[in-house]
Amino acid sequence: MAYCRKCGEVIDDEAVICPRCGVQQAELRTSASEDDGSVLWLLVGFLIPFDGIVL
Ligand SMILES: [Zn+2]
Repeated sequence: MAYCRKCGEVIDDEAVICPRCGVQQAELRTSASEDDGSVLWLLVGFLIPFDGIVL
């Protein structure tokens, strides 16, 4: 659970707008796809040296 940053009402973690006071809670997560790409490259960075050790 999360709390409204204005009135402190308990709201859902994914709630965009507080149902009590109507204040927007967070910026839209438009960079989610970019974050996924970073995680993918991070995994590649870990796997490449590991392959070198095995081979
Ligand atoms: Zn609120």
